[in-house]
Amino acid sequence: MSATTLDGLKIRDEIQAELAGEIAALKARGITPGLAAVLVGENPASQIYVRSKVKACESLGLYSEKIERPATMTTVELLAVVETLNQRDKIDGILVQLPLPPQIDTRRILEAVDPTKDVDGFHPTNVGRLVAGRANLVPCTPAGIMEMLRRYQIPIAGARAVVVGRSDIVGKPMALLLLHQHATVTICHSRTRDLPGVAREADILVAAMGRPAFVTGDFIRPGATVIDVGMNRLVSSEEVERAFHDTAEPLRKLESKGSVLIGDVQPEDARDRAGAYTPVPGGVGPLTIAMLMSNTVRAARLRRSK
Ligand code: NDP
Repeated sequence: MSATTLDGLKIRDEIQAELAGEIAALKARGITPGLAAVLVGENPASQIYVRSKVKACESLGLYSEKIERPATMTTVELLAVVETLNQRDKIDGILVQLPLPPQIDTRRILEAVDPTKDVDGFHPTNVGRLVAGRANLVPCTPAGIMEMLRRYQIPIAGARAVVVGRSDIVGKPMALLLLHQHATVTICHSRTRDLPGVAREADILVAAMGRPAFVTGDFIRPGATVIDVGMNRLVSSEEVERAFHDTAEPLRKLESKGSVLIGDVQPEDARDRAGAYTPVPGGVGPLTIAMLMSNTVRAARLRRSK
């Protein structure tokens, strides 16, 4: 059996095409949704993420601003940046790129963002709304996964869903979204006993652990839908040989590009055992930015309709 590939690029394009219509309607009313991305320091991965978020805004015709500050700044200085953005009418969405440098109190910063502009959905008000089933702004990665499941018509109500990972950014909101859609949800983490056995009960298995190719065939019930959130960069041939069964193509990629991306799921096992699965790259990743755009448009609409 070979699994259906759940194509994140195709779903991203669908979401963005729908958003383009909404943006045009807002612009006709004189409203251009605006996103501010705050980047502190020079973390190369963060620079790439922020650049692609700003680029996505530009290609959809949203207003965007990149606000760069040095890695040495203090919590109080960053609070002042956030406060200014909270006050500015042109800005509908604020995202503070994580991780922040160690001297900065991340929790204080995230709690300072105006909840109506919190397009990452990390503010306690938005977390509470999500728990209560009255969400306005939902964290982008799990929101994108729900779009993927919906558009591929994967049944959720009554399904057994297992989420591996309990982070505030992915695992917890993912589990809540599946629960609200009437899945029977189990959340696993590093202390879970018999993880493969629990995972094998899943009709929908979400892997969000940050462990390359950890989820192997013995975790996957034949025919299950497997969602691979992990983004792990392998940089040595030993790592590649540990993670892949057929290493010829990945080793070639390692040699030409210097690294190979792999998820938390062993991709060849997923292809052989799952009913449907998200590839890495090209699965969950592209949806995260699409949902950030969607949240920015939503924030603009909600704030202006007040
Ligand atoms: P975190 O490190 O915050 O959380 C990882 C979770 O996985 C923790 O709850 C941890 O358990 C659990 N875990 C770790 N090892 C094991 C194990 N051996 N067995 C069972 N559970 C384990 O990661 P994030 O949630 O932020 O991200 C997860 C992955 O998703 C990463 O690879 C990240 O790069 C990727 N990601 C991808 C995105 C995308 O757009 N595609 C967006 C965001 C993240 P415990 O709590 O007990 O420590």
